Amino acid sequence: MSCLFCRIIAGELPATIVYRADDVVAFRDVNPQAPTHILIIPTRHIASVADTQDSDAELLGRLITVAKQVAQTEKLSGYRLVVNTGTQAGQSVFHLHVHLLGGRAMRWPPG
Ligand code: AMP
Repeated sequence: MSCLFCRIIAGELPATIVYRADDVVAFRDVNPQAPTHILIIPTRHIASVADTQDSDAELLGRLITVAKQVAQTEKLSGYRLVVNTGTQAGQSVFHLHVHLLGGRAMRWPPG
């Protein structure tokens, strides 16, 4: 299994997991870009948003719903959800993930 995040799901690589269900897992980013930086991922390997099907709509919704739940648990008053899609957009790990960033003021536009 070569996918980094699949290995985290399988317990082969260490991670600080903050949420786990059959379909979605959330864990702390190893290189946080904000005081709270958590990644929410599907347990099924999907490389990116660009690789989803219409039938994945419910799963995509679950990622946002779990992000909201984790943000509440982390007591974030405001937060940003980011889904980098493709190398040009800054995606470096090709297992779909939603970044949950919070705990500091955010600027716009992002870089
Ligand atoms: P992206 O650049 O959007 O693909 O985001 C990938 C994220 O995964 C980056 O924020 C990395 O810091 C994070 N990351 C990479 N390896 C690990 C790891 N082993 N555990 C937790 N987060 C990781």
